[in-house]
Amino acid sequence: MSRGADTLTIGWLYPDLMNIYGDRGNVLTLYQRARWRGLTVDVLELGKGETRGMDGVDLFFFGGGQDREQGLVYADLVEHKAEPLARAIAGGAAVLAVCGGYQLLGHYYQTAEGERYPGVGLLDVTTEAGGRRCIGDAVVEADPALGLDPPTLVGFENHSGRTFLGEGVRPLGVVRRGSGNNGADGTEGAVAGNLFGTYLHGSLLPKNPHLADLIIARALGRRLEPLDDELELAAHRRILERELQRR
Ligand code: GLN
Repeated sequence: MSRGADTLTIGWLYPDLMNIYGDRGNVLTLYQRARWRGLTVDVLELGKGETRGMDGVDLFFFGGGQDREQGLVYADLVEHKAEPLARAIAGGAAVLAVCGGYQLLGHYYQTAEGERYPGVGLLDVTTEAGGRRCIGDAVVEADPALGLDPPTLVGFENHSGRTFLGEGVRPLGVVRRGSGNNGADGTEGAVAGNLFGTYLHGSLLPKNPHLADLIIARALGRRLEPLDDELELAAHRRILERELQRR
């Protein structure tokens, strides 16, 4: 764990395979928002077969992927990365996982054809593909316990998976627009300690700087001085107003 006062190491899981609907924008946002605070930031790309340096990672990002890409990575994830990932998390590292990455942090992801990809079980969730894909813009009222201001999150969904939460996680929030975890129980995402899973692509963090800062602060184990987020929050509000007005 680098966890130095002025350094941040971002571990990017499967950047070549698990990176759809703009998810790389989350890494760029985390990188830049830490740099704007004067931190030295390293990005460690952790593709298949790569585990070197995982113990020094402060913040992991795990992007989305189609069933095919998930099928290409889950064995490496479970066999090679699960243990150093769990060790880093036990040492205080934070994780942001989006959609396919979120699903594989759970117990398993089962495709519409019935193929079951084991996950690492770091999030107490299970996912099985449903018939209709959940596609479209989404608005989420975040869990008040996270203390986010504004209390909303906006993003874009495109998934067939229906994720159900176990006892070991809290929802990231409740859906005001869109499908969320499963289109049935009104929840979106999952949080356990410093692990954040979500279905929100977009990419998520450029339009939700308050969530980006929460995750960076958790990774560093300290508060962050605020930035001028006028532009980012104007984009956030524009989507919020547009989506909440839509019938
Ligand atoms: N393949 C998974 C699903 O369809 C995840 C998709 C994604 O990452 N957008 O649910």
